[in-house]
Amino acid sequence: MYLYNSATHKKEPFTTHTPGRVEMYTCGPTVYHFAHIGNLRSYIMEDVLEKYLRYEGYDVNRVMNITDVGHLSSDADTGEDKMLMGAKREHKTVLEIAQFYTDAFFADCAKLNIKTPDTVQPATGLIPEFINMVQGLLDRGYAYIAGGNVYFDTSKLARYHIFFDHDQEDLQVGVREGVEEDANKRNKNDFVLWFTRSKFEDQALKWDSPWGVGYPGWHIECSAISLKYNGEYLDLHCGGIDNAFPHHTNEIAQSESYLGHPWCPQWFHVHHLNTDDGKMSKSKGEFLTVSLLEEKGYDPLAYRFFCLQSHYRKALVFSWENLDNAAGAYRKLIARIAALDPDDGAVDEAVLEASRQKFMKAVGNDLNTSLGVTAVYDALKAGTNDATCLAVIGDYDRVLSLSLTEKAAALRKKTVELGEIKATMSIGAGASITVTGEGDPAVDALVLKRAEAKKAKSFAEADRIRNELRAQGIELTDTPAGVVWKRV
Ligand code: AMP
Ligand code: ZN
Repeated sequence: MYLYNSATHKKEPFTTHTPGRVEMYTCGPTVYHFAHIGNLRSYIMEDVLEKYLRYEGYDVNRVMNITDVGHLSSDADTGEDKMLMGAKREHKTVLEIAQFYTDAFFADCAKLNIKTPDTVQPATGLIPEFINMVQGLLDRGYAYIAGGNVYFDTSKLARYHIFFDHDQEDLQVGVREGVEEDANKRNKNDFVLWFTRSKFEDQALKWDSPWGVGYPGWHIECSAISLKYNGEYLDLHCGGIDNAFPHHTNEIAQSESYLGHPWCPQWFHVHHLNTDDGKMSKSKGEFLTVSLLEEKGYDPLAYRFFCLQSHYRKALVFSWENLDNAAGAYRKLIARIAALDPDDGAVDEAVLEASRQKFMKAVGNDLNTSLGVTAVYDALKAGTNDATCLAVIGDYDRVLSLSLTEKAAALRKKTVELGEIKATMSIGAGASITVTGEGDPAVDALVLKRAEAKKAKSFAEADRIRNELRAQGIELTDTPAGVVWKRV
């Protein structure tokens, strides 16, 4: 595959240190609140990348940290402790907060078909390894102690600004508000490896260390966790674009200085999901979550579909209208797949193999997921027998993970129970409903009216219509492909 590499600013052939094996690391969530759907855009795209590499035949070892300590509300080594903020907000201990939001994160991931990495390591579980690495950096002359804290000395590096010496956007994300000067630092970019002088009176989690009781800096956890589970040579490091600086820059500084050799050649950064009024942020209070999408009646996989329709290296603007369009297209796609007959013919292996090659050519070009989705539509138009078409789509879905064939099978079963699909009707703004019933234009019209009312969020009117139909002995069922009605 060809992948854009943030470290070289070029699209390059993907390579690995050990042939056939990918050591992959992903920066995990900071578990002081629910993940917002922007965070989850990053995890969806990283999930597709992992699955695509497996699809190409690589054996992937994927590692992720859980940041449950020492992460401050500013990305510099200043600001308020986010975990502590969460604990105060909810009158719980920091560890209770961490456990609750870690579970919530993986529950959201499951709803979005995001596979759990092979190893998930909470930072609080590996403090001795962090201390070891900090000691190693001190021993090798890359760190110094000042004012009770241990700092990394960036002046000892031949090159520090790995990602943003050319890239304007990376430069911008590196600029943060409210960064306070730390008088202990010898150089502007130096950063803390270990704190013993907490600015927080009530710092909750502290550990003993050779430099006194304290806690690790933010960046050391990823370097040490990756070293333990991926080994000395990492092939691919992932994260959102905001992680490039200072977090990933500092990870490289630590790891390479500690190891004494180049560490990770390939860096994959997902650009942000923004709203019309700017960047999404957990610390801003109200934010968009998977639960909110569900409350509003969206299938979380419609959000995954929405993400896959655009390229990971472009900022993506979220709006309800954009999501509606994606949700409508996703429902229609499932209805089209449901209309295929699994017993129609035998799978043509030659077609399946040729389709695989086509898919790899498209998606293997810098993870072009929108072409991956297009390949599904192409398969539907290819004119093969239905069994082959379903096999091709099922094969693509190993990477896309949109539950296409599973949802289609469920819909097929439901449709068999309830009757043939009668019509798919547009209800404006790209949305549509599929009406499955016994064929009665008056009922179809009311079903459509109810769908329009729901879309306009006139829920009382929608309920009124449902009751009106119920009074006529007609039951409605909302399915992924639209509304199904039957006389009871
Ligand atoms: P955090 O929980 O803040 O540590 O972030 C988890 C992941 O989400 C990191 O990889 C971030 O870079 C990424 N991220 C943060 N905000 C966004 C956003 N608006 N869009 C996409 N990814 C994001
Ligand atoms: Zn990290």
